[in-house]
Amino acid sequence: MTETAFSPTERSTIHRLPSRGSYNRKEVYDILDQGILAHVGFTTARGPVVIPMGYARRGDTILLHGSAKSRLLNELTKGTDVCITLTLLDGLVLARSTFHHSMNYRSVVVFGHSSVIEDPREKNAALEHLVEHLVPGRGAEARGASEAELAATLVVEVPIAEASAKVRTGPPVDETKDLEIDIWAGVLPLRFETGEPIPDEHTPKDKPVPSYVRDYPQGRA
Ligand SMILES: Cc1cc2nc3c(=O)[nH]c(=O)nc-3n(C[C@H](O)[C@H](O)[C@H](O)COP(=O)(O)OP(=O)(O)OC[C@H]3O[C@@H](n4cnc5c(N)ncnc54)[C@H](O)[C@@H]3O)c2cc1C
Repeated sequence: MTETAFSPTERSTIHRLPSRGSYNRKEVYDILDQGILAHVGFTTARGPVVIPMGYARRGDTILLHGSAKSRLLNELTKGTDVCITLTLLDGLVLARSTFHHSMNYRSVVVFGHSSVIEDPREKNAALEHLVEHLVPGRGAEARGASEAELAATLVVEVPIAEASAKVRTGPPVDETKDLEIDIWAGVLPLRFETGEPIPDEHTPKDKPVPSYVRDYPQGRA
């Protein structure tokens, strides 16, 4: 991973509330590494499409995967400009005026050009990386992909050519004249939480839940 900040271009420069923006690579990557679900946007012959997908960052690239039959993956394997966004939602911000209501969040927008990973060994390594990103610890236990499964899967990488982060934290920002309004104001924190693990019908009742499931980090989304 290179340590430099991203150099914003015309399309990745944050104009609206730039104080909340950052091109710091570490900040961008920390947000990417906490997330598990991205929205992948690209243009097709029939217009723009944005599709939700699991992803993983590996170094300075984002990895995506899907079925070899997928329209989406087949578009991406052709090599296309892609915009990948992800949002970690941290809270609802309740101001004294409707106008100043907001949300606390950490979000990232990435631009890059997709390319397919064809070499089976590289493909397998990328899939293992994806599994480890989504469920750290799972890769060591689960059976790896067979040749047929590898052939049925497309893996795409998107070098992170341009990226920005935008973060809002803290309480509402009210007009001074509104501070006298007799109303509750503040932040309702939000976060994704894991629930109680549910074993499937083939898992013996006395099989302990692995620690990487029981202790899965909270707040990923
Ligand atoms: C949390 C989450 C994680 C996912 N992770 C992956 C992943 O890692 N890899 C992967 O390949 N797929 C993933 N999917 C499924 C993905 O969103 C697509 O449904 C799938 O990739 C097929 O896309 P397609 O464009 O080839 O499908 P098509 O069936 O060809 O899409 C045709 C149209 O169907 C509609 N459509 C497609 N997908 C969705 C959707 N998810 N919700 C609503 N409408 C839709 C859209 O209008 C789209 O233009 C994930 C979905 C979710 C919600």
